[in-house]
Amino acid sequence: MAIKPYHYEPLTDFSVPENRKAMEEALREVRSQFGLSYPLVIGADRIDTEKKIVSVNPSNPQQVIGSVSKADTSHIDMALETGWKAFAQWKKVPGPMRARYLYKAAAIMRRRKLFLSALEVYEAGKTWTEAEADVAEAIDFLEYYGRQMERLSEPVPLIPLDDEEDRAFYVPLGVGAIIPPWNFPLAILTGMTSAAIVTGNCVILKPASATPIIGAHFAEIMREAGLPSGVLNFVPGDGGTIGDYIVTHPLTRFISFTGSREVGLRINQLAAQVSPGQKWIKRVVAEMGGKDAIVVDETADLDAAAEGIVTSAFGFQGQKCSACSRAIIVDDVYDLLLSKIVERTKKLRVGPADNLNNHMGPVIDEKAYEKIFGYIQWGKENAKLQTGGTTLDGEGYFIPPTIFSDVAPGSKLEQEEVFGPVLAVIRAKDWSDALKIANDTEYGLTGSVYTARRERIEQAADEFEVGNLYINRKCTGAIVGAHPFGGFNMSGTDSKTGSPDYLLLFMQMKVVAERF
Ligand code: GLU
Repeated sequence: MAIKPYHYEPLTDFSVPENRKAMEEALREVRSQFGLSYPLVIGADRIDTEKKIVSVNPSNPQQVIGSVSKADTSHIDMALETGWKAFAQWKKVPGPMRARYLYKAAAIMRRRKLFLSALEVYEAGKTWTEAEADVAEAIDFLEYYGRQMERLSEPVPLIPLDDEEDRAFYVPLGVGAIIPPWNFPLAILTGMTSAAIVTGNCVILKPASATPIIGAHFAEIMREAGLPSGVLNFVPGDGGTIGDYIVTHPLTRFISFTGSREVGLRINQLAAQVSPGQKWIKRVVAEMGGKDAIVVDETADLDAAAEGIVTSAFGFQGQKCSACSRAIIVDDVYDLLLSKIVERTKKLRVGPADNLNNHMGPVIDEKAYEKIFGYIQWGKENAKLQTGGTTLDGEGYFIPPTIFSDVAPGSKLEQEEVFGPVLAVIRAKDWSDALKIANDTEYGLTGSVYTARRERIEQAADEFEVGNLYINRKCTGAIVGAHPFGGFNMSGTDSKTGSPDYLLLFMQMKVVAERF
């Protein structure tokens, strides 16, 4: 068998009865494991602590998925020290060999694809298709970064002096902290962790507290893939107790974070301070929020635009940093397109994520639920409610897809990230006005334009200030290798995940010039 060129993982079609049955079986298997407890993993030690993070099903918060041990600051000291010990050996393992651990982990994940998807359904409240897409993306990251590491293991091309041998190669940074989000609980966690590891670093991984069981399964898969102990240390814990401690610790070499703007900026600020005993400038890779817009002009295919807006706004309940939270529509087609969007949205069924008939599941937890309803309340007072906005029956944190029209440019709902199923529709005078409104934000992650006019496409490519611009398609669902993903401005450090550049963030170049 040869290592084939990278190709993204195919998705499962759940309209095929066999696939549906297999997923139902996987859901059953996950349910049979409800309530298990997962330890910290530090080096070869599996440590059970008294304090636990209890993970629940957001579709039914009474249902406990399981619990994980909770690290305190002494565990963080231990994990960082263990990481540095392991680093001495791991950094010497050739890049192509490190890549093999990722290929092996990808193969294990592929074999466990539906189980992991089912776990996401219960722990994150993802619908079947959203969950499976997340697992597929995790596999993509492993396969893609493995191949990128093989490429980056080649000597860097230089133009040597006449009387020297001049060489350059990439070396890892050391031991870093990986702090991923809950919204792509396997894909982003896997991408961030595997990129740091395959480049020769060791890590402490603090999974999001809403989805730690998926994190525990990932740690187990990496162990099964044969990763030497100490390379990946799994330390779930309270952000409030260990977050700052990890970031300010003198042994932390880098921090890779994906999450909110607020936490990202705090990490960036704390990491800039030099702690006693620290001998490097910490590197921060931060991917944060978005206030992403889809702009539609009068020449657009309005059915396609309505479809793209609804999918981008309400997929995974709008809890994507790439989600469309603003539809900016030119006056000429505003009323017509708005009615198409509302009509489609009214057909979306919301309910427990394990039921394939539901298009949308719950939001992640009570805090999110309250926060989103705060924005809904604001919308009711300051804009025009078109659909949704009510509470729903059921145990879970269910919020109906909610649309406000006539949202004023510059207003709260037009500017702040909601991270939930709330779409603000904004009327623009014309195309130029629409593009201006789209750019009037601190964020700059994704955006879409629906138009038939070539010069407007080119103008958007030039002037729409986002890291990921899509034309005549939805603004979510970046595919590893095809759509390097990351944003401008307050959306983060534009550290394009799934790109040929991403691994460089976890390495530094060393040059050796030798005279004979
Ligand atoms: N990569 C995802 C997408 O393109 C979004 C990631 C995120 O929300 O953090 O939809």
